Amino acid sequence: MLTNLADVLRNAGLKVVEVPGWKTRGHGPMSGVRGVLWHHTATSAKVSGDYPSERVVLEGNGTTDGPLCNLGLGRSGTWYVISAGLAYHAGTGSHPAVGTNGNGYLIGIEAEHPGTAGNPWPAEQLDSYRRGTAALLKAYGLGADRLIGHKEWAPARKIDPYGLDMKTERAHVENYLRGSPAPGGIESMALDTPWKDTYGNTQTVQGFMAETQRDLNEIHAALLALQKSRIPGDPNMTNGANALMDTVARASITYAMVQDLHRKVDELETGGVDVDAVAARIAEKLGPQIAEAVANKIAERMAA
Ligand SMILES: [Zn+2]
Repeated sequence: MLTNLADVLRNAGLKVVEVPGWKTRGHGPMSGVRGVLWHHTATSAKVSGDYPSERVVLEGNGTTDGPLCNLGLGRSGTWYVISAGLAYHAGTGSHPAVGTNGNGYLIGIEAEHPGTAGNPWPAEQLDSYRRGTAALLKAYGLGADRLIGHKEWAPARKIDPYGLDMKTERAHVENYLRGSPAPGGIESMALDTPWKDTYGNTQTVQGFMAETQRDLNEIHAALLALQKSRIPGDPNMTNGANALMDTVARASITYAMVQDLHRKVDELETGGVDVDAVAARIAEKLGPQIAEAVANKIAERMAA
């Protein structure tokens, strides 16, 4: 029985509701933990509350007896601990590192979401989904590759979690596994605070910010150049994207600055730059600070 679930999530700084009886609830014990399986509840967005699917995942849906997941995730990002034992959530499917017994080996998370277009995932919910998943994987000694979407487990019959690209989500979780910058980030520090850059050189925050702004301008210029060129023979802009990536990788850019960049990028989009592709490649190469912001942008796009 996975009786550590509540503590693992709480220790990651997340809000947790322990649904009474969860430590002994389940269709028998788990066989082990080989990964985490993401779902959405498919409950209508018109139903109010933070986690209106709670009763269904506890008691069952009329066809399948509950519990239908180990954990629930509310719209606010609050976690609902449902079952320390085996839950019926995976169904027929497979994954190379898990096998075919999904219920026995995968922690099932049912996130509150209608599973239909026009319902972007709330940012706080999505962030909590990623943070909680990283905490769970860490607790069981697993890597981000063990975050699996139900639509990957059973691609022929499942679409959940709706609108999320699992590769991007694994990149987010990977960032959280590696450790994220302090809440508030560099913007919350005094300007004369010593700051260590990516090369290990110490300078002031003010100096760092100025340098970063220059990097940002350079990236902006690179995007503009990309947009204008659409180089023949390089239709995916591989060369340009790589150059851009190197520029970004050299910089240590703050979240607020990336947001600013995104605004600029938005202005370019009609010109034909595939921003999502560029951003995905950036996210692959970068550390937690910027990859998070870039991936958030991608998630926004996918949800739109
Ligand atoms: Zn599912």
